[in-house]
Amino acid sequence: MAKKYVYFFANGKAEGRADMKDILGGKGANLAEMTNLGIPVPPGFTISAEVCKYYYDHGRTYPEELKEQVEEAMRRLEEVTGKKFGDPNNPLLVSVRSGAAISMPGMMDTVLNLGLNDETVKGLAKLTNNERFAYDAYRRFLQMFGDVVLKIPHEKFEKALEELKKEKGVKLDTELDAEDLKKLVERYKQIYKEEGKEFPQDPWKQLWLAIDAVFGSWMNERAIKYRQIHGIKEGDLLGTAVNIVAMVFGNMGEDSGTGVAFTRDPNTGEKKPYGEFLPNAQGEDVVAGIRTPLKLEELKNRMPEVYNQLLEIMDKLEKHYRDMQDIEFTVERGKLYILQTRNGKRTSQAAIRIAVDMVHEGLITKEEAILRVRPEDVEQVLHPVFDPKEKAQAKVIAKGLPASPGAATGKVVFNAKKAEELGKAGEQVILVRPETSPEDVGGMAAAQGILTSRGGMTSHAAVVARGMGKPAVVGAESIEVHPEEGYFKVGDVVVKEGEWISIDGTTGEVLLGKVTTIKPQGLEGPVAELLQWADEIRRLGVRTNADIPRDAEVARKFGAEGIGLCRTEHMFFEKDRIPKVRRMILAKTKEEREKALDELLPLQKEDFKGLFRVMKGLPVTIRLIDPPLHEFLPQEDEQIKEVAEQMGVSFEELKNVVENLKELNPMLGHRGCRLTITYPEIAVMQTKAIIGAAIELKKEEGIDVIPEIMIPLVGHVNELRYLKKIIKETADALIKEAGVELTYKIGTMIEVPRAAVTAHQIAEEAEFFSFGTNDLTQMTFGFSRDDVGKFLPEYLEKGILEHDPFKTLDYDGVGELVRMGKEKGRSTRPDLKVGVCGEHGGDPRSILFFDKIGLDYVSCSPYRVPVARLAAAQAALKNKK
Ligand code: PEP
Ligand code: MG
Repeated sequence: MAKKYVYFFANGKAEGRADMKDILGGKGANLAEMTNLGIPVPPGFTISAEVCKYYYDHGRTYPEELKEQVEEAMRRLEEVTGKKFGDPNNPLLVSVRSGAAISMPGMMDTVLNLGLNDETVKGLAKLTNNERFAYDAYRRFLQMFGDVVLKIPHEKFEKALEELKKEKGVKLDTELDAEDLKKLVERYKQIYKEEGKEFPQDPWKQLWLAIDAVFGSWMNERAIKYRQIHGIKEGDLLGTAVNIVAMVFGNMGEDSGTGVAFTRDPNTGEKKPYGEFLPNAQGEDVVAGIRTPLKLEELKNRMPEVYNQLLEIMDKLEKHYRDMQDIEFTVERGKLYILQTRNGKRTSQAAIRIAVDMVHEGLITKEEAILRVRPEDVEQVLHPVFDPKEKAQAKVIAKGLPASPGAATGKVVFNAKKAEELGKAGEQVILVRPETSPEDVGGMAAAQGILTSRGGMTSHAAVVARGMGKPAVVGAESIEVHPEEGYFKVGDVVVKEGEWISIDGTTGEVLLGKVTTIKPQGLEGPVAELLQWADEIRRLGVRTNADIPRDAEVARKFGAEGIGLCRTEHMFFEKDRIPKVRRMILAKTKEEREKALDELLPLQKEDFKGLFRVMKGLPVTIRLIDPPLHEFLPQEDEQIKEVAEQMGVSFEELKNVVENLKELNPMLGHRGCRLTITYPEIAVMQTKAIIGAAIELKKEEGIDVIPEIMIPLVGHVNELRYLKKIIKETADALIKEAGVELTYKIGTMIEVPRAAVTAHQIAEEAEFFSFGTNDLTQMTFGFSRDDVGKFLPEYLEKGILEHDPFKTLDYDGVGELVRMGKEKGRSTRPDLKVGVCGEHGGDPRSILFFDKIGLDYVSCSPYRVPVARLAAAQAALKNKK
């Protein structure tokens, strides 16, 4: 038997079904399904997407059987409609539309009113008793066919229409009468001639050319780009199907019309019909936006019966598909037709509300609700967004990496100190820097948002902004920042200090001028309920990376179950600490250093007490100092002078220290455990602060804490062994002296590839592991995490890498080290607790992997905690499958 390529549907019976999307495309499968449900769908047939594949595999030719199957389907269509294709007295007209398994709105081609020619147009006029209507349909067909099939620039047709309206002195298309439209048809034909194209009068020729055009549009630039952007790979889809459907007309008078209806409000998610309706119009009039459509409720007044029927159908479709539907309908002389249904696109807020409501309505399960909401949706509702109307009008001047989500608007400031001053004075500012350093933290906190021209997803600016929940765009390489001169430049656009810009940390866009932001919803209502369900389902723990009590509090509110990483050096940058830290660095003897550290100790102890208090007995992992020491000192002569004065040392002395600390590769240099091995007294001070804080809290406030002391950048077990001994001696002595019971743990970060490879040895000493996937990615790829902006965008564009490895875990390389590190670690210490505290801990795709390989928890910045909770639940559900 010949292979079946054509699937017919009419009068309550269809050869296809909803689950045949792969071959019928979304539109075709749903037309078939709706037909079977008894919904009034105009009859038609779908040519399988397999034909599209065949077409491209065989040099743009069709399988032999196709011609006969299409002819047979057309014959059946004539039978059910009682019309004839090409018959001047009673012409059958069809629409020809694309439709792939994944919806690609507007990306491929559509032709309406096919079958019209110089003869059939007369028949249509007679039959409908409406000459104007017939010639309007004809001129529309000439325009669409010319544009879509024969590639005649559509502006030519639009220009001709505009000219005619001007000649006649009218504004609206509807003011043109039949005679005008006849003239327009002749002008359109003239355009064909001028373009050297022939308009086929034979409807069969029209049909095959239109089918060619739809299959051809699968590989047009727009469609290819769309698939790229949406991560649809070649091989994911067979191609597009082609739907050929009997035309119904919404432009046959005031008892006709066309519209779009959503079963729920796609903006808010509210359960009430939502949509638009345009009387006496065809679908493209709605899209073209020439006339303003009426609210759907208007239909109730104009055609109450049609409205009630539509509501019934909407309800039926939503229950059938168990999701919010986006429906296209047409009313032809009082009769309702449904032309399409699909799961409706919706805002993040609506996505969450609809999923949660549908669980309460018994339409879907909690598991389905969790899988339906995208982690980005949860992220979105926690951050400000731009007013969409204003954003659409603002000019995008640059694009960088979307480092920390949310929308921000403010006056440009180039200097962190100034940002702080203006921020305090109540001004809204955006801090713009080539890159940020720890010294800028105060200014970052005071700004509405941060923009840098350099740096990647784990650069200082990105990590700190995410921690603060502050919108940031980093690595916008097209921007030249001149802080000294007080301006930045992109192409010809120059933006001076004090001028307004807006940044979208969710998309990476930089916009000129002030764009109003809309406040986030917060973690309440439906999203809170959804996350509760997520907590019941997920296996992975979710902790937070937080350095100060305020961040820890935010994270607790968002559901963090402990702190997975406290970067203690961040505390060193506070105003009252940095002079003491600098004195410690400048110390010439151990005694001098200890003296400076002694001054830091009580401050640091208070910091830890603050964190422990917020976390109320939940685990808190505190990492010993990590960055190279030069980060605590000024680098420019101007500032060196200033700081030297403050410290009471000579410029030369300080400059000398700065020079001595300079390294060619500081990220591979004297940092992490290497620092505390050189200066064990720093580790001793930090241990005293951590254990001391725990003891005091226990004694004074009855709070039980189990501190986890974490050593960074370990690559060899002996590094850990050396430091562990010092830490243990210090801690045990303190505990003994205090006479309290206190358990603590000493563990390590796994962030150097050698540590992952020798994890079985390291686990002999380490009581827990936390994968530092930022450094692990940096060292596994050998990519400097602060300089990737120079080449990574190109790597992604050229497809060398599929994802930014600093954002989403590289499964095969870095991921393999994580998997191996965990396995090896557990081989010597079966109860080893293993987590992740790199930025990947908040990334859904990475979380899927961490769940799969059996890690215990992920830790991420406070604002990502809700995202991670949902992603962890999704991972558990997906990995179970
Ligand atoms: C890491 O390297 O993944 C990490 C968490 O540490 P940091 O980002 O502070 O280097
Ligand atoms: Mg690190």
